[in-house]
Amino acid sequence: DLLVVGSANADLVVAVDRRPGAGETVLGSDLVVHPGGKGANQAVAAARLGARTALLARVGDDGHGQLLRTSMESSGVDTSGVLVGGAPTGVALITVDPSGDNSIVVSPGANGRLTPDDVRAARELFAAAPVVSTLLEIPLDTVAEVARSLADGARLVLNPSPPAPLPDEVLAVCDPLIVNEHEAKVILGTEPGPDPEEWARQLLALGPRSVVITLGAEGALVADADGSERVASVKVKAVDTTGAGDAFTAALAWRLGTGERLADAAAYAARVGAAAVTKEGAQASYPTADEVATL
Ligand code: ADP
Repeated sequence: DLLVVGSANADLVVAVDRRPGAGETVLGSDLVVHPGGKGANQAVAAARLGARTALLARVGDDGHGQLLRTSMESSGVDTSGVLVGGAPTGVALITVDPSGDNSIVVSPGANGRLTPDDVRAARELFAAAPVVSTLLEIPLDTVAEVARSLADGARLVLNPSPPAPLPDEVLAVCDPLIVNEHEAKVILGTEPGPDPEEWARQLLALGPRSVVITLGAEGALVADADGSERVASVKVKAVDTTGAGDAFTAALAWRLGTGERLADAAAYAARVGAAAVTKEGAQASYPTADEVATL
């Protein structure tokens, strides 16, 4: 049902009393290793909801790669497209201070070696996918090749994160382009003003067929040539928003593939995003369809 082309990272997390300055060493908590990366997060989120989901990604020939594969397989993700080698598995080195603020260093590793050739070699995965979801934690020319590789009638869902200016050929096939406020700013290259409706108009002028703006606890806004629509959020007690955006994107992409209209898919995705903020962690916080129904 859904093909995700994206990143897989091991998140290495240590709690500290305070961050070290240059040349300084501080002691931290025991290391916790979580499976992460926006591609793997999306694939796990969709599979957890019951979507048949495949991931095209690259990991290293190492223990972190194994950890990621195990996590994805236990959630039911088709990992036949998870390639191995070329560099160590991507890692995010994360320190968390007592106020909950993160400092993060990302080493893209194998994610940076997912090439346009890897995309071309994955013909069968593309042929089977009515929806393909991708993001920018992989090289931009790989994303451009994804945009060229869609099956007839298939749609591309793109969350441009981390945000970077996008080539017209990629923008033109996004349906939708999914951004938060920060990503909208970078894609537009300007301070977009206070009104999300206006950001949506400006983003649509860049060429995507549709746009979704995520607004955290405020829900989301969907827009296309026919107009725009607000999507309500669900009121929940937020515990940890890590990975909520990835769960939102995955859920929306899956529902579009089942033929749902954009605003309905976004309303479902908002429930999934809300469920994901009620628990700690990214992949560990993702709900099943039953949990979404009872939210
Ligand atoms: P990102 O993580 O990309 O910045 P958001 O924070 O906007 O994305 O979250 C994505 C979606 O998750 C939102 O559109 C909303 O549906 C849901 N969500 C996020 N935070 C909350 C919250 N505090 N309460 C309810 N829903 C939330």
